[in-house]
Amino acid sequence: MIAMQSIRAYIGLGSNLGDRAATIIQALTMLDEIPGIQVVQISQLIETSPVGGPPDQSNYINGAAELRCSLSAEELLEQLLAIEKQMGRERVQPWGPRTLDLDILLFGNEIIDKPHLKVPHPLMQTRRFVMIPLSQIAPDVVHPLLGSTMRQIQCALEQP
Ligand code: ATP
Ligand code: CA
Ligand code: CA
Repeated sequence: MIAMQSIRAYIGLGSNLGDRAATIIQALTMLDEIPGIQVVQISQLIETSPVGGPPDQSNYINGAAELRCSLSAEELLEQLLAIEKQMGRERVQPWGPRTLDLDILLFGNEIIDKPHLKVPHPLMQTRRFVMIPLSQIAPDVVHPLLGSTMRQIQCALEQP
C-alpha cells in the first residue's frame, strides 16, 4: 500500500460572539471527524482585545491547533469555511464580529499566493493573538518565508 502524504498544518481559531470557547472546541471536534484531518495538538485558549474592524466589538477567544492533514491546502480551506458556516459565521464587515474564524497559518513548508488562499497567513507575524498560541504548540517550527521560528517571531512582538 502506498502511504498517503500527510502534511503538518497549523490553524488559528478565533471567536467573539456567543459561547466563544465552546464554539472553538466544537470546531476542533468537527475538524477531527473529517476524513484526512487529525487534530494532534491544541494550544491554550486566550482572551484578546479585538484588532482592527469596528471600534465597539467584544473581546475574542483565540487559539491555535496542529493538524495532520492528507488533504490539499485548498481542500482544507474549503473544510474550514464550511465549518465556519455551520457555526453561524456571517461576513458583515471586514474584521467584524464573528462566531468563528478559522485561518490556515502554515501548511507544511508550502508557499501559496492565490487570491483566495495565502499561506503562510500574511499577517500572522504581526499578530500577538496568533503568535502567542502558535508559539506554544510550535516553538521550533520555522516560517518558510521569514526563516525564523515561531518562538522568535513571538518574542519580537513582545519587544516595546
Ligand atoms: P484576516 O485574513 O486578516 O485574518 P479574516 O480572517 O477576517 O481576515 P475572512 O473574512 O475570514 O478574513 O476570510 C476572507 C477570505 O480570506 C476567505 O474566504 C479565504 O478565501 C481567504 N483566505 C486567504 N488566505 C487564507 C488563509 N491562509 N486562511 C483562511 N482564509 C484565507
Ligand atoms: Ca483571521
Ligand atoms: Ca478567516
